[in-house]
Amino acid sequence: MSQAQTKFKFDLSGGNLALDFANTVSFRLTDATERLVDYNHLVFFGMQSGVYSFPEHLFAIAGESPGLGKSSLQKAIQFREALYAIFSAVVEHRAIPGNALALLNVMLQEAAEHGRLAYRDRRFVWEWMYMDSYLDSLLWPIARAAADLLMSDEIQNVRICAAKDCGWLFVDRTKNRRRRWCDMKVCGNRVKARRHYQRVRAE
Ligand SMILES: [Zn+2]
Repeated sequence: MSQAQTKFKFDLSGGNLALDFANTVSFRLTDATERLVDYNHLVFFGMQSGVYSFPEHLFAIAGESPGLGKSSLQKAIQFREALYAIFSAVVEHRAIPGNALALLNVMLQEAAEHGRLAYRDRRFVWEWMYMDSYLDSLLWPIARAAADLLMSDEIQNVRICAAKDCGWLFVDRTKNRRRRWCDMKVCGNRVKARRHYQRVRAE
């Protein structure tokens, strides 16, 4: 059986790789449910979000050295929490936590060591080198996406889902900037159904 198969499907409604990564915890604000349950799920996220195309080698390394996979997963989760701390502070107009920003800078530095500017088909492109040899390679483009978003005008349109228990982040690209839910099919409908139920019960 190929390990590159999972039944779990990550919800990529954040509109940005770093936000989608920050959203790999469900019901963050109440019954936090971890979706990165093991190293392979980190790779699954990388595949589903388009970072990895053929990461068999990563599965193999982590399979042979479970300890390495485990520490990579821990590092990824720590980084994810730093990203969430930064972006949620931006959205809620709180002070940016210095330790989280410091960790993002460490990751940016690490990422830079594995990237290069290349010229392909008459265009300059940023390339990551040997992604399939480093268990942490998923974090490189995520760090980069986070920094790009933080520096862009779009940062003003980052929101937190309006559902009380969700806490997911997304970029609101709707025309009137009034998107409220991470995913209408998930939180929007859930909240509406609950309101309907409460109304019916009250009557
Ligand atoms: Zn939501």
